[in-house]
Amino acid sequence: MRAFSLMRIAGIRVVIDPSWLLIFALISWSLAVGYFPAASPGLSGTGVWILSVAAALLLFASVLVHELSHAVLARRAGIQVPRIRLFLFGGVSEMASEPSGPGAEFRIAVAGPLTSLGLAVLFWIAATAGLLRAVPGGQALLDYLASINAALGIFNLLPGFPLDGGRILRAWLWARRGDIVSATRTAGRSGSLVGYGLMGVGIYEFIQQNLVGGLWLVLIGIFLNQAAGSSYQTTLLRDVLSGIRVRALMKHPVVTVPDHASLEELVTEYLYRHPHGSFPVATSDGRLAGMVSVDQLKPVPREDWIRTPVRAVMTPADRVRPLHPEEDCLSALERMIRADAGRLPVLENDRIIGILSRRDLMRQFEIRKDLRV
Ligand SMILES: [Zn+2]
Repeated sequence: MRAFSLMRIAGIRVVIDPSWLLIFALISWSLAVGYFPAASPGLSGTGVWILSVAAALLLFASVLVHELSHAVLARRAGIQVPRIRLFLFGGVSEMASEPSGPGAEFRIAVAGPLTSLGLAVLFWIAATAGLLRAVPGGQALLDYLASINAALGIFNLLPGFPLDGGRILRAWLWARRGDIVSATRTAGRSGSLVGYGLMGVGIYEFIQQNLVGGLWLVLIGIFLNQAAGSSYQTTLLRDVLSGIRVRALMKHPVVTVPDHASLEELVTEYLYRHPHGSFPVATSDGRLAGMVSVDQLKPVPREDWIRTPVRAVMTPADRVRPLHPEEDCLSALERMIRADAGRLPVLENDRIIGILSRRDLMRQFEIRKDLRV
């Protein structure tokens, strides 16, 4: 199952991961069998379920508002936020780049917990004022939303990267040291420590017979621990690659396929002879005509290969988005990921002067990161 789009808010796509449905069902169920019957005795069975589902929906609306607050501040700092994803462990605002400085990082990070704590205060005021007094179980609903938002705000302030508190810690270290990679390394270590801490508390809770809650904390701990490691790798990758020009890593000369070649020739002369899954296609005067990959060949029946020219199936040049030799390798990698391409040609004055692959980039990253730290 794939994530599906829920809606679009101010140009930001909100997508829901299938794992979200699991946690949604789990929260509704635990509220319906535990919290509401205890907090508001006398409710009918149907009433309990309606309130539980409403509470779970409002909880996720609260998580969404939390994420939107990050997104608004990120945009104000000039960072694109194409997607907000809701999944098993809550929400995440997917930002296209890192903040440009520790100040921006701090503001983006602190917005989320402050928003959750603000929501907690609003729900608490509504509960104290007895706003839903007329609705059976309404008081219990507001109490729940006040305490769950307070818990969200406080949990996210734990100083483990990539939690919001860990980002605040990173911003502080970044401002002190002037080095985002070193700040991320320390904040990431703190993230794994917080992860182990959560696992420890979870195991303790489990032993104390709080089975679901305990297991849940262990899972969040494992998730945070892994996320801390991979976030550090991502920051390091961005830092290392942004300092290298495409010209320095591109391979040349480039094996190109003539645009009049048939698919049969593409297979026998190129795919069977070179260790690549895709090739640039060139016109007779050396210009880029397009890119052709093994995937584009597959839908064509084998008996048609001999009379089908490569240009009939290739991605035409105007959709290839070739690289420029002076571009930095980070933007090259981002472009390859967006285009879902394993390799992209490098063009200068309309001539193909080289080719760069994701594999080359990752190999250089592995070499350089060891020399750097
Ligand atoms: Zn947050």
